[in-house]
Amino acid sequence: MKVLLLGGTGEARRLADLLVAQDIDVVSSLAGRTTDARLPVGQVRQGGFGGVDGLVDWLRDERVEALVDATHPFAATMTEHAAEAARRTGVPLLVLRRPGWDAGRASDPGAGEHTGDRRPGLDVDQTTAWHWVESAEAAAQLLPQVGSRVFLTIGRLGLDAFAGTGLWTLARCVDPPEREPDWCTVILARGPFAVEDELALMREHRIDVLVTKDSGGEMTSAKLTAARQLGVPVIVIRRPPLPPGVDAVESVDQVVEWLRRRR
Ligand code: NAP
Repeated sequence: MKVLLLGGTGEARRLADLLVAQDIDVVSSLAGRTTDARLPVGQVRQGGFGGVDGLVDWLRDERVEALVDATHPFAATMTEHAAEAARRTGVPLLVLRRPGWDAGRASDPGAGEHTGDRRPGLDVDQTTAWHWVESAEAAAQLLPQVGSRVFLTIGRLGLDAFAGTGLWTLARCVDPPEREPDWCTVILARGPFAVEDELALMREHRIDVLVTKDSGGEMTSAKLTAARQLGVPVIVIRRPPLPPGVDAVESVDQVVEWLRRRR
């Protein structure tokens, strides 16, 4: 069985490990934008496909029998392209989306006694001071009401939305932004991060508000625990929705099981 695995995440690398170990013919695909990317085991291709048409051609030319989208929850364009290409070719698609964060999730180990306290329909969680917003622009607009010394952990591509806040900002990115911004201090670092280090960083810079995307997972959740311990409010950018009708699971094991059934 030939599988195309759209990657760029830790889960995709773990999945490639498992599939290669089971002798499944898997090709991992990376956008190829991160310098020094951690490559998965097995066959790897890098770079965009050239839109939906390019992906359709690739699926047909390579006789792909199953498509797994294990891209980052915020890689919305790739996921939309995968859904459309699957529809056009009839290649079955499964999307792997790790669970998002919320104040009661196990992936936010600092949640403690707050487990399950996020009230549906309430955008600000009164207990944990998590503010949910739809976009980077909405986060930037809300920021001055929430804090004045900002820790921005949304990646280099969304930085521009925050250029006009006028607030002191520390931005953490994996790769340097294309142009060095003059309105914030940039530090380069790649997870996983430890709670003690996040505490030290936030104390050193006297951070009083954290901005994050709802990426989910353990690699970067230590900042949430540190924010809770320091009483720092968090602005969380919601995930883009999945394209309608696509099948999605939350764990690598569920993908392996789906492929096993298809074989
Ligand atoms: P995106 O906006 O959804 O995708 C933009 C374009 O990049 C796609 O149309 C596609 O080009 C190409 N592309 C994206 N993922 C690809 C893949 N796995 N293989 C081949 N081409 C890919 O994606 P993004 O948010 O820029 O993310 C790029 C990559 O970084 C993804 O693989 C994602 O898993 C990873 N990543 C993203 C984030 C994030 O916060 N967005 C965080 C960590 C890792 P064509 O149209 O030419 O095919």
